[in-house]
Amino acid sequence: MYLEHIIYSIAFALLAGLVALKHNRKDYSWIIILFTYAPDMDVGIRIGANVSQIFLGIAFPISGALHYLLHTLGALVIFAVIAGLILYAFGIPLLAGFLFSGTAYGIHLFGDFLAYRPGYSFLWPFSSEPLGIGIFGDQYPLNFFRIANSTALLVGLLFLMNMIILHHYMTHRIPTD
Ligand SMILES: [Zn+2]
Repeated sequence: MYLEHIIYSIAFALLAGLVALKHNRKDYSWIIILFTYAPDMDVGIRIGANVSQIFLGIAFPISGALHYLLHTLGALVIFAVIAGLILYAFGIPLLAGFLFSGTAYGIHLFGDFLAYRPGYSFLWPFSSEPLGIGIFGDQYPLNFFRIANSTALLVGLLFLMNMIILHHYMTHRIPTD
């Protein structure tokens, strides 16, 4: 599950944007898109480590357990706090930064929870039990250019299309009074 994440994130961000619009609040839903891949940050760290090994000869061994650790509720809270503080430095209200960063992280985890069976220990530190319902079956083949599952991608694209239509309708509404 790689490409699917960004499709679902954009769809949820559009929905969050509509909620903000309805309540006349400032829209921070772009944070949901910005942090789509935060729980997979170990992939980026691993690439950085490989580059440093090739060019600098310095090896940074990165445990495979990091990927599992990042797919937990504990990691979500820690990430949301750190991201919220960083966003605050850029003028985003602390609570909004915290909530939207956590939402971004949570949507990613929820996607993995739906896709995989078993998935990760999502409820850690409350439970170490691997959870996941594998909504598309036991296997989750990356049959779309090895970056996505075509079924999950199609469902995501339909969801996104509906959100775009809804967003268009809500933001281009002709006032009736
Ligand atoms: Zn993931």
